[in-house]
Amino acid sequence: MKLETKCIQAGYTPKNGESRMIPIVQSTTFKYDTSEDMGKLFDLEAPGYFYTRLQNPTNDMVAAKIAALEGGTAAMLTSSGQAASFFSVFNLAGIGDHVISSTAIYGGTYNLFSVTMRRMGIEFTFIDPDCTDEELEAAFRPNTKAVFGETIANPALTVFDIERFANAAHAHGVPLIIDNTFATPINCRPIEFGADIVTHSTTKYMDGHDAAVGGCIVDSGNFDWMAHADKFPGLTTPDESYHGITYAEKFGQGGAFITKATAQLMRDLGSIQAPMNAFFLNLGLESLAVRMERHVANAQKVAEFLEKQPNVSWVNYPGLPGNKYYERAKKYMPNGTCGVISFGVKGGRKGAEAFMKELKVAMIATHVADAHTCVLHPASSTHRQMSDEELLLAGVSPDLIRLSVGIENVDDIIEDLANALASIGE
Ligand SMILES: *Cc1c(COP(=O)(O)O)cnc(C)c1O
Repeated sequence: MKLETKCIQAGYTPKNGESRMIPIVQSTTFKYDTSEDMGKLFDLEAPGYFYTRLQNPTNDMVAAKIAALEGGTAAMLTSSGQAASFFSVFNLAGIGDHVISSTAIYGGTYNLFSVTMRRMGIEFTFIDPDCTDEELEAAFRPNTKAVFGETIANPALTVFDIERFANAAHAHGVPLIIDNTFATPINCRPIEFGADIVTHSTTKYMDGHDAAVGGCIVDSGNFDWMAHADKFPGLTTPDESYHGITYAEKFGQGGAFITKATAQLMRDLGSIQAPMNAFFLNLGLESLAVRMERHVANAQKVAEFLEKQPNVSWVNYPGLPGNKYYERAKKYMPNGTCGVISFGVKGGRKGAEAFMKELKVAMIATHVADAHTCVLHPASSTHRQMSDEELLLAGVSPDLIRLSVGIENVDDIIEDLANALASIGE
């Protein structure tokens, strides 16, 4: 099946007389005829469900669709993108371990790694995604367990050189984890370039309608845990908390990672996605291919329009030929990148505030990456406690506008921007 068909059909095939839509299994528990039947599930001897804190059929059908889109062997849904990022790393690294992460990642992920997971005893080295080979090589330590990056960074819009980082990670016997939220599998499939684990905030384009917070983790099935058994004892030695199962032996390369994350992390931390939210996510996935095409087309036109405006001082969009990441974006995302653009307006913080007041189609929201065009001026909202100097240190200039181009008629979006730009300096 091609991607567009997988969006509609993968993950669930109804049998004779069954519901056409993925059913919402709104049940915490599941009934069995005998204790022996249930015992087999607890021993992971038979597939099946016993409690929705660990697994639910609706979630699994939707996760299977995302696995098919990414070209992976197994997947799980999580309650949020944050939970997906956390599980993907914590499934491999624990106290005393070390992880390398790109600096160009979502702010929430940066906090999770640099503050919360550091408190759990995991050390992180943050490296510039455009660092030299020597700098990348020097970041690895004997206790390094994974490398983490984002296909297109939110909000910096840096395009990550997946192949380069995959080669470096593999040379050191560790997997590459890629947060593919902004590109979605419609525009980039990181596994094709060597990524081993792919994560998503499904809250963004995948849901696409501001309806449900969620996350997903996909395993490529390509990483040979047993070949690096000493590095990943959690996957390659018996789990005493789960009947002495050795995940990599029992579930093989294609199933070990997700089974461990489900049986251990989901069991203990309980960050399951509600089946109802998984249903909403599936509705979003059905139109994902069509929507991404429109997001990219609209954003390209908007970026080209902005570039020509006298009241705009700079535009950052990887689809513009002058962009630093234009060539790399063409390699990893030949059909376009995403709908998010950042740009600066003349007049700094004051100019940006005047501009924001006049917008009508573009709505002010902290959210990005969904059907509705939305806009944010970090200096007067999310980052308002910072001075201009502090903002520049944080990589957010006082004039920066983050625009998430939706799937409305692009002429309405451009007219709205033109009106608001005209108000600057009045
Ligand atoms: C939003 C976002 C997250 C966090 O996802 P939530 O669903 O908000 O928890 C992680 N990574 C990226 C790239 C994001 O944009």
